[in-house]
Amino acid sequence: MKPKRTEAIVLHTIAVRERDKLVVFLTPEHGKRKGWAYGARGARSRFGASLEPLAKINIGFIEKESEEVVRIESVDLIRSLFPAQQNLLGSIAATYIAETVDTFAIADDPSELIYRLLDRTTEALLAGATPLAVVAYTEVWILRLSGILPSLKNCIVCDQPLARPLRYDARVSGFVCENCTTRDADVIPNDVADALDAIMKFPVAEFAARAESDAVIFELRSLAGALRRHFLGHELKSFDILASLAGSR
Ligand SMILES: [Zn+2]
Repeated sequence: MKPKRTEAIVLHTIAVRERDKLVVFLTPEHGKRKGWAYGARGARSRFGASLEPLAKINIGFIEKESEEVVRIESVDLIRSLFPAQQNLLGSIAATYIAETVDTFAIADDPSELIYRLLDRTTEALLAGATPLAVVAYTEVWILRLSGILPSLKNCIVCDQPLARPLRYDARVSGFVCENCTTRDADVIPNDVADALDAIMKFPVAEFAARAESDAVIFELRSLAGALRRHFLGHELKSFDILASLAGSR
């Protein structure tokens, strides 16, 4: 059987038995896949050190119709996450971004946009962009790409155009206009609304270069977090680790 070849980014790996790894990876054309890398933990493995979280690779795999898990045949490293791992916050941010994408990417559903988001945000972390700005960007975009981010232009209740200040109503998980607002709606400060617009408009490196204040990044992340928890019904596993580290800087 001829292996399929594609670019991919490793989301996470699980050590299995003495020598093997189960690898979860994201591809542009085949979505999220799981594969066995036999012998990947051996000292002289042909896979080398390329099957690590957030490594960008060229992967060859064989799939059998009856099996959910493919067999990984070959791996060539394109980009390792190694330099960012020397920075603790950058490293935890990378883990959190991988978990975010892993949670929202659907198995076998080809989503090139989610792949590009993961690729560009990892690249930005490696280039030394502020980790929390990259995290906030990822959190907002993954909601957008999953169809969960409410409109920033029209009221979720009456569809009239929204004016500043934006108001977020948690009860309807959306932004409401002046007529539909209630006492429970949160007024979003204009600099936070501007930052949201910038996330929608610019690539991640450009957004990070705007050097938004810690307060704006905090507000963006709170908003994204409320939408995410409402949708998932729980928080991501690495959220608390990132929060404790970000808070202690
Ligand atoms: Zn309205």
